[in-house]
Amino acid sequence: MPQDPRSATLAAATAPGTWDLLVIGGGASGLGTAVEAATRGHRTLLLEGHDYAKGTSSRSTKLVHGGVRYLAQGNISLVREALHERGLLRKNAPHLTQSLRFVVPAYDWWAGAFYGLGLKLYDVLAGRLNLGRSKSLGKEAALERTPTLQAEGLMGGILYFDGQFDDARLAVTLLRTLEDHGGVALNYAPVTGLIQKNGQVVGARFRDAETGGEYEVRARVVVNATGVWADDIRRLENPDARPLLSPSQGSHVVVSKRFLPGDSAIMIPRTDDGRVLFAVPWHDHVVIGTTDLPVPETSFEPRPLEEEIAFILNTAARYLDPAPTRADVQSVYSGLRPLVKDEQSDGVGSTAALSRDHVIRISEGGLVTLTGGKWTTYRRMGEDTVDCAERVGGLPQRLTVTPGLHLHGWSEEPLPDALRVYGSDAQRIAALPGAGCFLHPGLPYTEAELRWGVRFESARTVEDLLARRTRALLLNARASLEVAPRAAAILAQELGQGPAWADEQVRRYREVAAGYLLGPASLSPGQGQGE
Ligand SMILES: Cc1cc2nc3c(=O)[nH]c(=O)nc-3n(C[C@H](O)[C@H](O)[C@H](O)COP(=O)(O)OP(=O)(O)OC[C@H]3O[C@@H](n4cnc5c(N)ncnc54)[C@H](O)[C@@H]3O)c2cc1C
Repeated sequence: MPQDPRSATLAAATAPGTWDLLVIGGGASGLGTAVEAATRGHRTLLLEGHDYAKGTSSRSTKLVHGGVRYLAQGNISLVREALHERGLLRKNAPHLTQSLRFVVPAYDWWAGAFYGLGLKLYDVLAGRLNLGRSKSLGKEAALERTPTLQAEGLMGGILYFDGQFDDARLAVTLLRTLEDHGGVALNYAPVTGLIQKNGQVVGARFRDAETGGEYEVRARVVVNATGVWADDIRRLENPDARPLLSPSQGSHVVVSKRFLPGDSAIMIPRTDDGRVLFAVPWHDHVVIGTTDLPVPETSFEPRPLEEEIAFILNTAARYLDPAPTRADVQSVYSGLRPLVKDEQSDGVGSTAALSRDHVIRISEGGLVTLTGGKWTTYRRMGEDTVDCAERVGGLPQRLTVTPGLHLHGWSEEPLPDALRVYGSDAQRIAALPGAGCFLHPGLPYTEAELRWGVRFESARTVEDLLARRTRALLLNARASLEVAPRAAAILAQELGQGPAWADEQVRRYREVAAGYLLGPASLSPGQGQGE
């Protein structure tokens, strides 16, 4: 029977002793913080309650960007910082990020002039890390780049450059980078309590979700990086803590590449609700979104509302010809933004709100909460948080090395799209059983990638394999359902489990994946099932 790789990790996580940093949450914020801490030489443990990137960090628009929207709002320092981070990520993880051409269509001369000027400023703010210069396009040139753009009334457009990435794969890459630098991370380990001594937070209690075992870990400083769930952790310390966050939902639809052939994306700078809408080529499909809808509660599986789908498809229909209909949607997914509603101190300690869109709070008991921000700036968020944590935990204050840190698998080798995300690991995957065995004609993934995910990337469930190690669920939910039994068989074999366990995995996966199919039965009038 193969050795389950998780046992050694659990043993390392719970070994006697005190960690320098305990990070709660394995999304962009937590993984970025943990990598920052481990690369500064601090003993670092990360606990993730579900799977890495199960929350918002696998549900983004897949852009590494300065944020054209922030530019329109005049938030220059934020845009400059994000553009700088975009450039660093492009250098430090060339296997996961790429520059992408965007066309902003102009249906009147004013829009062309206005956005043309704005995007020149975007170029300037990116400085020497710019990915390419923006320029005006005539009607013919705009249609050449984006042939399905609605031609009627089109006057031309602006071409500009931004970055694109695979969000969940970046999360897994950060996990591997953390491990490469001596950090320990455990998924399916929800934190259930904080250990306090003399009013100070000195550790946490967690549950092993696989066995039900309860554990305690001690740390000099505890970082709460749980995204939209950050208030839940804050309340473990102080049940009266005022809520910091008000979640907002954003949804996307994924359709066939035929709706946006070529390699350029479309950016609609101002939709009817004043948002930006993107249509972005991604893994040979097209992601269209997003929306922005305040929601009353959090869920690990937020479901798109009917009005969001209608809004995305109706807006797309105004700019794309042919336009995708409901029947063309291969997958639909939603994520929750951890928006900070109140940056004032709630009177229980100092506030370290930074002049960016992420916020770091230190409670009276020394719990460091990082929230807000975006994927693009995860590294900077981690740097700021560890600077803060070193002071709070009395750790040696060390300089960051992450601006020049190559992430796990760093490679500039041109590889087929599906394998590129593994970078230098791609060769090792090609040597595993099932390397030539594709799972489904509608998906670019092989059986070997699933084995790799279990052996080296801490995948524990069929959902981990199909939603986040590969992106099958997001690319084509129906195809992913068809391959679920095969994925479960491989997972069971790798983990030494039997057929009944595999069947249960398939059943659970079907339940989750149903929410990504667009059909009357899959949509509820409100939030999806919580957890
Ligand atoms: C619709 C949408 C589109 C976006 N698009 C982009 C984009 O294109 N580019 C960009 O740069 N940014 C984008 N963002 C922003 C970006 O995705 C988020 O800022 C980022 O993913 C948030 O990461 P996080 O780690 O803070 O939260 P999360 O990713 O939600 O991670 C929090 C983690 O904490 C875990 N957790 C919760 N409770 C516990 C507990 N008790 N114990 C242990 N673990 C726990 C959760 O399981 C989860 O994995 C987008 C956001 C949304 C909503």
